[in-house]
Amino acid sequence: MIAPIDHRVTRIARGAFTGAAAGAKFPLLMAHDHPDHDHDHAHDHGQHPPSDMELRVKALETLLVEKGLVDPAALDAIVDHFEHKVGPRNGARVVARAWSDPDYRDRLLTDATSAIAELGYVGAQGAHMVAVENTPSVHNMVVCTLCSCYPWPVLGLPPVWYKSAPYRSRAVIDPRGVLGEFGVSLPEDVEIRVWDSTSEIRYLVIPERPAGTEALGEEALAALVTRDGMIGTARL
Ligand code: FE
Repeated sequence: MIAPIDHRVTRIARGAFTGAAAGAKFPLLMAHDHPDHDHDHAHDHGQHPPSDMELRVKALETLLVEKGLVDPAALDAIVDHFEHKVGPRNGARVVARAWSDPDYRDRLLTDATSAIAELGYVGAQGAHMVAVENTPSVHNMVVCTLCSCYPWPVLGLPPVWYKSAPYRSRAVIDPRGVLGEFGVSLPEDVEIRVWDSTSEIRYLVIPERPAGTEALGEEALAALVTRDGMIGTARL
């Protein structure tokens, strides 16, 4: 069983990131992810010169297209697939199945990659999955402190705030405070476990099944499951 990360170890190992952004103010939903300079103000990219990183990305993209190594239409198709065809509804079906079928739940917690593949959700950015279950005494929350690793086959593409420096640093430094800013207030005796995604391992939070849903079938249950619930920044 993989243990939750030790915050101190993470901060030492990835100090370049956590240290740089630790003091950042925290409008998560407005923060942009500019690795080359920390700032947290909302701004309109149309009225400012692009950042060095944006220019580098654009230059690289232009070069790859010019040399015929990348087809822009193919890139658009990939993004469209994960934005509109995958999205978090796959993950919601996994959660609904786990709520409905105790044997499936056990398989999901034992070997999430295989259990998720049973429903047909396999692929890059989700080749090694771990499912973590919320209970009345434990709340799980997922971050990628290094960049933006995220389980694409079950959740689609990551939201902007997930990739932002303030979320990535503060999720490990002050998870309870971050949850508060998402409107989630947990009793003090609820343990919060923060899981640090990597390119190798991606996490799916199984939220607690809401009370009063005993009569619902899997489709109706899946409709209750939100993306943020499966990242652990919301409760259902
Ligand atoms: Fe990452």
